[in-house]
Amino acid sequence: MTVTLETTETAPIPGFVEKTALERYVAPAKPSLVGLSRVALAEALGTVGVAPAQQKMRVQQLWHWIYVRGTQDFAEMTSVSKELRATLDAHFTLARPEMVAEQISVDGTRKWLLRLPGESQSGRAHEVECVYIPETGRGTLCLSSQVGCTLTCSFCHTGTQRLVRNLTPGEIVGQVMLARDRLGDFSSAASPSEGSRLVSNIVMMGMGEPLYNFEAVRDALLVVSDGDGLGLSRRRITLSTSGVVPMIQRAGDEIGVALAVSLHAVRDDLRNELVPLNRKYPIAVLMEACRNYPGLSNARRITFEYVMLKGVNDTLADAKELVRLLKGIPAKINLIPFNPWPGTHYECSDWDQIEKFSEVVFDAGYASPVRTPRGRDILAACGQLKSATEKMSARERLALRAMAMTD
Ligand code: SAH
Ligand code: SF4
Repeated sequence: MTVTLETTETAPIPGFVEKTALERYVAPAKPSLVGLSRVALAEALGTVGVAPAQQKMRVQQLWHWIYVRGTQDFAEMTSVSKELRATLDAHFTLARPEMVAEQISVDGTRKWLLRLPGESQSGRAHEVECVYIPETGRGTLCLSSQVGCTLTCSFCHTGTQRLVRNLTPGEIVGQVMLARDRLGDFSSAASPSEGSRLVSNIVMMGMGEPLYNFEAVRDALLVVSDGDGLGLSRRRITLSTSGVVPMIQRAGDEIGVALAVSLHAVRDDLRNELVPLNRKYPIAVLMEACRNYPGLSNARRITFEYVMLKGVNDTLADAKELVRLLKGIPAKINLIPFNPWPGTHYECSDWDQIEKFSEVVFDAGYASPVRTPRGRDILAACGQLKSATEKMSARERLALRAMAMTD
């Protein structure tokens, strides 16, 4: 199977570069069942002789072993006949992406480097990163959707990488499986409660633009949110996009997860530079798509991400314009301190400026969490992952600082 990038390209747009797939996915000789939809799993069973009348029941059994128990060996599936277990073992695996490195930060953040199958023109292995961020009462897993990224945002390290290939649904779901394996987060009990899981939230904020790999991301997230399996509620899954407007409506209709939009600038001239996709889908068009996001309400707000770049997008006039722009859209604003990488000419805004910016946003009625970098000691980043996600508003920080000074 060859995975190609979806493009919606017509005429070239000056200043907007869309990378084409440079790398090829080559399915392993023995494919993994991880990440298949129920329908695809039934089809796979059909290919090894499971009669149609049996398929639904067998899928149900396998689903439980794979996604609730986290079983990695067909031999452990005691409710499945011995004969079928042997047949499955002969034709399939339950493999997850191969973990080539694990780093654990003093703050508990974990970063895994994962190697994926495929043919690389550059001779480099296909690798993505996946990061787990534990917080009080919850744990967030940051997933990648592509090796590299189709797009070229000027402040993003992933955007500079040539290597691009879309991840398959199995490789996306496989990141969740691997995290649960490593964290001991699979249950031996038949029906674990959602709240007891270490991986309780998912953000599609790793490498890649998820809406340029729409079908695979959709299929993967539907597996991840299946209530009889991994069981993460869609409200606990956030998909972050740089603004692939034509796919935003479909994301709401077909996946139904929370949306985050990487805004980063409030004027088209600047956003064209930072997020060149803006040349194709300018701010007004993006905002219109946001207003129409299915299921949008005060209880289900869109998160607008805004990376703080010193002297670029961080004036108080920018903050005021940001508030004006979002008027009428149920929104949250996440201010992200820029995470520098070797070779970038951007710098992170000064902390005082971030606080002032945050004050304007706060005074307009938005909680304005500033994302504190996590896992600094292990550089828990896919270029950007570092900035996810311990939240504390600048005002809270000010209050804490004031308290510290008066004590
Ligand atoms: N491609 C998607 C999701 C992955 S990027 C998107 O762009 O939304 C996840 C978030 O990290 C985005 O908001 C992105 O703009 C931000 N980001 C990228 N590079 C960063 C950096 N160096 N410092 C801080 N945030 C960064
Ligand atoms: Fe791709 Fe997102 Fe980075 Fe832009 S910010 S290059 S869309 S990963």
